[in-house]
Amino acid sequence: MLVVKFGGTSVGKPERMKKIASLVLGMPGKKIVVLSALSGTTNALVRIGESLIAQQYTAANQEMAELEKHYQQFILELYESESYQAIGQEIVSRYFSLFRLLAAGKFDDRSYRELLAQGELISTELFYHHLQEKKVSARLLPALHFMSIDENHEPELEKISERLGPILETLNSIDILVTQGYICRNHRNEIDNLKRGGSDYTASLIGAAIRAEEIQIWTDIDGMHNNDPRIVKKTRPIAELTFDEASELAYFGAKILHPSTIVPAQKYHVPVILKNTMDEKAPGTIISDKGSRGQFKAVAAKDGITAINIKSSRMLLAHGFLRKVFEVFERYKTSIDMISTSEVAVSITIDDNKNLNAILDELKTFGTIGVDENQSIICIVGNKLSEKEGVLKEVFESLATIPIRMVSYGGSQNNISILVETTQKDKALNLLNEGIFHL
Ligand code: ADP
Ligand code: ASP
Ligand code: MG
Repeated sequence: MLVVKFGGTSVGKPERMKKIASLVLGMPGKKIVVLSALSGTTNALVRIGESLIAQQYTAANQEMAELEKHYQQFILELYESESYQAIGQEIVSRYFSLFRLLAAGKFDDRSYRELLAQGELISTELFYHHLQEKKVSARLLPALHFMSIDENHEPELEKISERLGPILETLNSIDILVTQGYICRNHRNEIDNLKRGGSDYTASLIGAAIRAEEIQIWTDIDGMHNNDPRIVKKTRPIAELTFDEASELAYFGAKILHPSTIVPAQKYHVPVILKNTMDEKAPGTIISDKGSRGQFKAVAAKDGITAINIKSSRMLLAHGFLRKVFEVFERYKTSIDMISTSEVAVSITIDDNKNLNAILDELKTFGTIGVDENQSIICIVGNKLSEKEGVLKEVFESLATIPIRMVSYGGSQNNISILVETTQKDKALNLLNEGIFHL
């Protein structure tokens, strides 16, 4: 079984949706097709939800009306026959009636999450009917029947697998199953989601749950590039990455993959292939257990980082000090990305400031605290980088004109992490492109 995911831009125009239908039809064997919402829809739903929470009803209604118009046009171009256009019309009316119903009630966080889920529900329904119009045998596989997260927002892979097994058995004769990315149920059985960009994660979770042959992630670029193409002009696709390398790149900001995508696939050794819907012949990127060693492969950057420095003379020769510091972050469920220590001080970075003040209050009891917000982690990735001679020299020579706040090397053999002010990020990525990739 293949798991094949198409992102927002791949389904964002009627001709693209038709194109992916042909692509899927050309793939051998059985497949689960995971779709995102049409590009721009989740952003629009976020804006509508925020307006409703702020009780700005005119703004919400206006945005809803524009979105509805967009969908009405979409179905006219997607379906050829009048009868299918009428089906499309019915689908669009039904979803927008639901939006208005949600908006009219008490609009709380729960209704907001329900609203956000509609993008994937409508895209899969439209796509399914397109396949019907083409007389292709397919079935909708509702993600809300099997995809779930626990009270810590972690996907329940075992349960997902247990639920999917019997469902897939009953659908054994169907070659194409269409399901929603991004959406799930939480531990209260409410509609929830896997966070922005979560359709990649859905594909990987399903791939791992059913031990698929392969997970294909189709997007608008020919695979993982060596640098962020939104910031750096000359970038090139990477043919092969190890799971570890791809995982670090996704986690540290390569937007092409949701940060957690690789984790489930890696657990069950299911290869992940990144492909371009606009250029299907391009080889893309294969992510698996295999990969060359001792080379720079790519860099990525993650913004919104806060660095916290704790200076304490009591730390000198004191065992158990770091444990106490880490316990503070643990209590506030705040994960740490980078750490760097000296004899009397420790610097730590976090990407979630929700509990920053409470964390700082507790840390103050240990010593003097310094805080730097608006930092970015630049992550330089390569399998067994430490086997390459002079890696740090090349990196630091490239970044000679950038003030560096923190460095982390040796934590994993695949990554060098460097903390800079976010204002320096674009320059740093461009300098590394010239200095270590010679592009
Ligand atoms: P989708 O809607 O298909 O999920 P995304 O917009 O989430 O697509 O991800 C694809 C985009 O990721 C690309 O268009 C590109 O701008 C961006 N991107 C950022 N870093 C990288 C990278 N290292 N390699 C490839 N694409 C990247
Ligand atoms: N539609 C969701 C988003 O825009 C999920 C995804 O596209 O992966 O974040
Ligand atoms: Mg995405």
